[in-house]
Amino acid sequence: MTGARIPLARPRPLWPAAYVLAFFLAVGLIVWALDGSVGPAAFFGLVGLATAGGFLIHARVKWRHKTRGHKVSLAVIGLGLFLGAGVFGRQSFQLEGFFFYLLNGVMGGVVIHYLVAKILGPLFIGRAYCGWGCWTWTVLEYLPFKKSPHRPLGRLPSLRLAHFFASAALVFGLWFLAGYRHGTEWRTTDGLWWFLGGNAIYFGAGVVLAFVFQDNRAFCKILCPVTVFLRVGARRSLLKIAGDPERCTQCGACDRSCPMDVPVMGFISSSKRVLSPECVLCQTCVAGCPERALDLSLGLD
Ligand code: SF4
Ligand code: SF4
Ligand code: SF4
Repeated sequence: MTGARIPLARPRPLWPAAYVLAFFLAVGLIVWALDGSVGPAAFFGLVGLATAGGFLIHARVKWRHKTRGHKVSLAVIGLGLFLGAGVFGRQSFQLEGFFFYLLNGVMGGVVIHYLVAKILGPLFIGRAYCGWGCWTWTVLEYLPFKKSPHRPLGRLPSLRLAHFFASAALVFGLWFLAGYRHGTEWRTTDGLWWFLGGNAIYFGAGVVLAFVFQDNRAFCKILCPVTVFLRVGARRSLLKIAGDPERCTQCGACDRSCPMDVPVMGFISSSKRVLSPECVLCQTCVAGCPERALDLSLGLD
């Protein structure tokens, strides 16, 4: 798409909602064919409906209300996953749970969740999981610092890679050095404690970082270990934000409104799609562009 003028549809198109719904339905059918049980297929269908519903709200309501679509989707998917899979299902959906599943050699719920939401899925839908389904974001969204201060996060470097390797070292150390075995069955006490403990640490760190840096998204930018997976696929995603450089007046509103500090205007003025792996496809910049110069697009970069 680089170098080309990107024609954007007016009114906003409905195909992104159909695209995310088709993606999740396809995933559900593949899991059904491989696994033989209807449950996961139905679950992915529901996730697809919630995301598509959020995209539809974003595409169709008045501009100042657009972020409501993203709040609805986050509430349905984020809380649904947290309560259904974590609290009721008692499975560790944190990164440590993913490593335990791998060590057990089990292709189960947590591995499928990571493949779809965080490893392979981002090639098709970018970091839509972050913007539309992550339960951590669902909660951090309601802290008081909604607008990013758009300044470097102090002298603190991104600790995301260090956190990723610390999680891996914890699991592999427990497994190989201490002989600890964490089962992968549905509804285990171990799974529940890992899930609740991991989330308590994430939420605690998220709140502290938000207040220190006056930024609800500081945890995502500094400490979330899952971004190590997410960034690889998101950079190559088919679905990205695109802009029409002929409509863009370089007012900078998109840069100021972006909660992830993505330099949107720079990409648009150089006729590129928004290539940043930090983009979570929340479409806040789309809603805030006074020239209606931004929208979702599908393509290769
Ligand atoms: S970066 Fe991590 S915490 Fe933030 S929305 Fe994405 S997965 Fe959730
Ligand atoms: S908000 Fe719209 S017009 Fe303003 S810089 Fe961004 S893309 Fe251009
Ligand atoms: S570039 Fe736009 S869609 Fe991406 S994170 Fe920033 S505001 Fe959201």
